[in-house]
Formats: sequence, C-alpha cells, structure tokens
Amino acid sequence: MSLRHLNIDAYNPGEFHHLLDINTTNDPTRETTRLAIKLKLVTGTYILQNKRFRYTENETPICKLCDQGDETLCHFLLDCQILEPIRQKYFHQIDEILHLISKDNLRTLSSHDKIQIILDCTLHYTGLKGNSENIVKLDAICRQMSYALHIARYRSLDIKRK
Ligand SMILES: [Zn+2]
Repeated sequence: MSLRHLNIDAYNPGEFHHLLDINTTNDPTRETTRLAIKLKLVTGTYILQNKRFRYTENETPICKLCDQGDETLCHFLLDCQILEPIRQKYFHQIDEILHLISKDNLRTLSSHDKIQIILDCTLHYTGLKGNSENIVKLDAICRQMSYALHIARYRSLDIKRK
C-alpha cells in the first residue's frame, strides 16, 4: 500500500482528514460509496490491469478498454480515450476551482500534478487548509469524477466480456 498521494500532514487529531469529510454533501450514502473508490485510488489499492496481470495467468498490463498502452493509474485517470467524455465533464469544473485558488489550469499542469490534485489536492496546494470552501468543493468534484470513471470502466469491461 502506498500513501505517497495522501497528505498525512493535513490530518489533525480529533478531526476528520479532509478527504473523509463528506458531511457537507446532501446525500451521505451515495458519497460514502464514492469515497470508498476514491480512497482505494489514493492508497494504491484500486486494482487496474497493470497490477492484475501480475497475479493472474494469461493477463497483460494492456488497458482492456482501449488496447492503447498499459492501464496505470495515470492511464485510467488522465489518458484512456474511452473515458475521455467523463473526464471532460469534470475537468471543466475542476478548472473553475483551480482558477479561484491558483493560476493553474489542467492543460498546463504536468500529469504528476494533475494526478495529485485529483487524489489529494492539499499535497499540491500545501498552503490551503483542508476545510476551506474551495478545497471542500474540489474534493467533492474529484470524488465524483473518480467514481464516474470507475463506473464507466466497469460498464465498458462488462460489455466487452459479453
Ligand atoms: Zn485505456
């Protein structure tokens, strides 16, 4: 398990880590499901093809959605063309928040920085508090996007299996 994408310094004893704070949303049950996927991605326990192939016979690391390269975390979150329509919907919303907190936008950031912002933005914007309004919004959008990518990936794999 890797915690390199998680900002452990953002944790204050007696408080929730900002990634776990879903009290601000109006549908906590749904947010809990989304959060479970997000935490797997953050902790490196979400199984993509680049891990699955190591433990399964007759498997390759190649992405089964597009057949265009290894299915790494970067491929899943940023590059897989099959998932691009989902990403476009959320990247626009992420850019609106980034504009409020920095001069960044997703087009000019490196893949490494984009992944870090999607997984735990406070490790990228270290000056910002996890409970600030923009971080709460950004967390919510990134949680929704991660879940939407997860669902789209599963639906697509399911269709290919049939
Ligand atoms: Zn792909």
